[in-house]
Amino acid sequence: MPDLSALSGYPPELFRQVESLLSQPDGLSSRLLDRYPHAHGLRSDRQLYDFVEQVRARHLRSAGRIAKVVYDSKVQLAYQALGLHVRSTKVHGAQLKARHDIRIAALFRDAPLPFLSMIVVHELAHLRHPDHDRAFYQLCAHMEPDYHQIELDVRLYLTHLAAGGGPLWRAWPEGVPASSKAD
Ligand SMILES: [Zn+2]
Repeated sequence: MPDLSALSGYPPELFRQVESLLSQPDGLSSRLLDRYPHAHGLRSDRQLYDFVEQVRARHLRSAGRIAKVVYDSKVQLAYQALGLHVRSTKVHGAQLKARHDIRIAALFRDAPLPFLSMIVVHELAHLRHPDHDRAFYQLCAHMEPDYHQIELDVRLYLTHLAAGGGPLWRAWPEGVPASSKAD
């Protein structure tokens, strides 16, 4: 039995479809690659930060800048999450200032742009809505109209990896982009 835990909450018909795709060689991976042929190439934390700030400035201008955004390989292992939004409060003279950091699971570094956009929109929506309620998902879908389809496809990719499949979007051969490693 394949590990379908990334798809918990989806309907049983989907489980049957995914099992059938997994039983064919490259069934699931070719479906994902057909839909998302290219990696986004935003591999450094600097590029990631600029992307997040662009999305925030477009949709959540009044929320204020995000202090820090990084790819983090511990997010998935230690927190069983794809992204984390960390809110902290700093004393600034007589004022308390809220600070927001976002950590994105390292898996999104070598991934198509819609995958990155989905998780970024998710973490940004937490600036307004702490819980995964209706208003939260409405905001996600406002920022990324394909939010629900992309989330499903991200979960299909996790299922592909859990079944022992290799990464599908390796952007660079190991060691090539020295500049993206500097920051
Ligand atoms: Zn969340």
